[in-house]
Amino acid sequence: MRHFDAVLIGAGQAAPSLAVELANRGQQVAIIEGNFYGGTCVNFGCTPTKTLRKSARIAHQARHAAEFGVVTGPVSVIYSAAVQRMRSRVESSRTGLTGWMEGTKNLEMIHGWGSFTGRDGDRFLIEVNDEILSADKVYLNTGTRAFIPDLPGIDRVPVLDNTSLLALDECPKHLLIVGASYIGLELGQIYRRLGAEVSIIHRSGRIAEREDEDVSAAIQDFLSAEEIAFHLNASIVSLSPHAEGVSVQLSDGRELTGSHILFATGRMPNSERLNLAAVGVETDKRGFIHTDAHFNTNVPGIKALGDINGRGAFTHTSYHDYQIILEELDGKTPDGQWHDADKRPLTYAMFTDPPLGRVGITLAQAKELAAKGQKILTTEFSMADVSRAKEESETYGLIRLIVDAESERFLGATFLGIGGDEIVAVISNYMATRASYRLMMQALPVHPTVGEFLPTILGRLEELNP
Ligand SMILES: Cc1cc2nc3c(=O)[nH]c(=O)nc-3n(C[C@H](O)[C@H](O)[C@H](O)COP(=O)(O)OP(=O)(O)OC[C@H]3O[C@@H](n4cnc5c(N)ncnc54)[C@H](O)[C@@H]3O)c2cc1C
Repeated sequence: MRHFDAVLIGAGQAAPSLAVELANRGQQVAIIEGNFYGGTCVNFGCTPTKTLRKSARIAHQARHAAEFGVVTGPVSVIYSAAVQRMRSRVESSRTGLTGWMEGTKNLEMIHGWGSFTGRDGDRFLIEVNDEILSADKVYLNTGTRAFIPDLPGIDRVPVLDNTSLLALDECPKHLLIVGASYIGLELGQIYRRLGAEVSIIHRSGRIAEREDEDVSAAIQDFLSAEEIAFHLNASIVSLSPHAEGVSVQLSDGRELTGSHILFATGRMPNSERLNLAAVGVETDKRGFIHTDAHFNTNVPGIKALGDINGRGAFTHTSYHDYQIILEELDGKTPDGQWHDADKRPLTYAMFTDPPLGRVGITLAQAKELAAKGQKILTTEFSMADVSRAKEESETYGLIRLIVDAESERFLGATFLGIGGDEIVAVISNYMATRASYRLMMQALPVHPTVGEFLPTILGRLEELNP
């Protein structure tokens, strides 16, 4: 039986960097991956979607070129070429990652599905490809996959998830999307711009409902302007095959038909294959692994990183999990940096065009805190008043800043609009310093940028009435 100091199961966004780091420190390390190295982000998530988004954006801009005094002639999308560009990008990203790990001394890469078989004293036993390995420490980074609800008739129609959608060689004629959260909205706009008719079906009364109501409404506005159809408060009763492709029956009696149907209805954890019961690792009811803020499971020696621990659902949260572990290995906690997963504010973007950048709390959450007596300051600015946005003719959206009055620290920010995915980092990076917002008021920003307004609008903070 081969023994390793550390075995990492799943090569998502945390494990490859950790495996290389541990191996470079002289540990004997194995990383086990059942599918493609790089996991969801590189192969079926961020990398392909953000690459395809660029083709979609170019198509959109070309269609509107005349508004900017540029004549292009009729615009058509060669879907296969856009998809080829996307696949090349995925391939180069995956090859780069794989090559990096292959070139690392003391690191063994094992292609197969790993699962626990039990313990041998303090050591954990892991089975992969009919071989049993033993390890002193195990790091789980097995991620999530698309959750598809069990609806009547679902087994009678070809249902797509993010992976199978991106594997299509032809653009769907009419894409029905179930779920109006981040993945459904991003993909809806991309496919609309690539030439598909897009209809989005959503159970709740508003899209992206984790955001403030006015933010949801603004997103729906600009997507509707691109003729994406929204069916809200729509609950699916059944699905059936149809001459066009698929038919969806809704509880209010309506029937929607499309050539393809994508389910963007959330993610489920890849934990069942791990045979966690063999070592006693606990999960919640859905299968997400319980950890503390340093990713320790209930079994000393086994840690869970990335989406599987339910403490984040993003590439940067998974990678940050690795950074926290690294700090712990180094025994240092640099001043001002979040070294505890419970303390870091959630930061993310939705890559619609224009994008949404978010960090920390929403206005709705701020109002709840204010109702409990916390003194909170807020300020807002419409993108329609931002000179750079006007010059680019991209005036959808808003900036919203939320500050704790007593500590003068930022509690949250929303940037819906041009550059919002980048500008949010100004606030989230600043939050890591724990500095007063007043220092930012002395900054010297560049004109004309969206960020130039931050010092000015901070001068207009007002107390929030719950
Ligand atoms: C369509 C889409 C778009 C997205 N866009 C963004 C974005 O723009 N920005 C962003 O930050 N996030 C985005 N995400 C989320 C992001 O992809 C994930 O948060 C990120 O991949 C982190 O995942 P992870 O490290 O937890 O593991 P994952 O990337 O999910 O990888 C887990 C790996 O473990 C392997 N595995 C599972 N079980 C086993 C086992 N028993 N043995 C061996 N291997 C196993 C899997 O095959 C997989 O390769 C997107 C997701 C989707 C679906």
